[in-house]
Amino acid sequence: MSVVELRAVSREYQGVPALRDVSLTIGPGELVGIVGPSGSGKSTMLNLIGTLDRPTTGSVHVAGHDVGSLSDRRLSALRAGVVGFVFQQFHLAAGVSTVDNVADGLLYRGVPLAERRRRAAGTLELVGLGHRLAHRPHELSGGERQRVAVARAVVGRPALLLADEPTGNLDSLSGGEVLALLRSLNEDGTTVVIITHDREVAAGLPRRVDVRDGRVVGDG
Ligand code: ADP
Repeated sequence: MSVVELRAVSREYQGVPALRDVSLTIGPGELVGIVGPSGSGKSTMLNLIGTLDRPTTGSVHVAGHDVGSLSDRRLSALRAGVVGFVFQQFHLAAGVSTVDNVADGLLYRGVPLAERRRRAAGTLELVGLGHRLAHRPHELSGGERQRVAVARAVVGRPALLLADEPTGNLDSLSGGEVLALLRSLNEDGTTVVIITHDREVAAGLPRRVDVRDGRVVGDG
């Protein structure tokens, strides 16, 4: 069964198409880059794949569920159980310790606080930040912040990890470390989708979906 399936999807904003007739299947364990210039529709596609949005026409299936047919409540539950998100700007809570930032990734799963913190510490260990549990975001480097954000995204062991320009705010060394981390999560079985306009990042990925003007113009 595919993890993600877009069938003839379009998404319009006030009648203006941002995605046009996109069909795309992503299988379990894939590592996929979505590549294209600014404004080509990458974020729109990621929002649909991540069930944050619904298509104007066509259908989106995530982990076998037809996103368009689910209530908001069931869609939130699907998202909380299946999808982890990483963003270019990290989006960590300021003034909150690393371990609690990561523990927040389990908030919607009904896990008690002590257990959330225990799992968060374990995941921070996994991303090489076991020695930074009490640090706050402003005490960390950009690369460390992004690794905290990755830990938060995967602490609930989602089947699907979506990263929107995850290296966009990082120098090439830290960017490389974050990419290596995403790769190792993928090797452990997580399906990973990375949006990037960085050709170099894209070139290192086993599958690349090229997007232009809201259409998929290449996939391989
Ligand atoms: P990318 O991520 O490749 O930069 P986007 O998916 O953000 O591209 O945008 C694709 C197109 O859709 C752009 O023309 C953009 O202006 C438009 N768009 C995206 N989000 C919105 C929105 N919320 N309202 C109106 N237009 C939008």
